[in-house]
Amino acid sequence: MDKKEKNNLKKIILQKEGEILHEIKELEIKTAPIEPDCSLGRLTRLEAMQEKSINESILVKAKIRLKKIAFVLTKIDSEDYGQCSICEEEIPYGRLCIVPESTICVSCANSN
Ligand SMILES: [Zn+2]
Repeated sequence: MDKKEKNNLKKIILQKEGEILHEIKELEIKTAPIEPDCSLGRLTRLEAMQEKSINESILVKAKIRLKKIAFVLTKIDSEDYGQCSICEEEIPYGRLCIVPESTICVSCANSN
């Protein structure tokens, strides 16, 4: 990976970080406690609670992803960024553009 590609990846990662932060904010609003005296009907309330629990699991995943992204940002300037942590092969640039927080290559990911 050359310097230009690395700078490009940094931009992608920072952009993703911003997107996830935004997503987390919205999910936190959606997962706020449902008022017990809200004027929703019983069924609507049940639906609201189901939706809330779905959003809660999305929120947990988004937070994990944010942690990974933050970790990658601290690693991107080091020599071993973009290297598979299992087989030490270089992870293809195209894959890093899509999943910049990946720390293992496709073949290792598939054999796990
Ligand atoms: Zn590998």
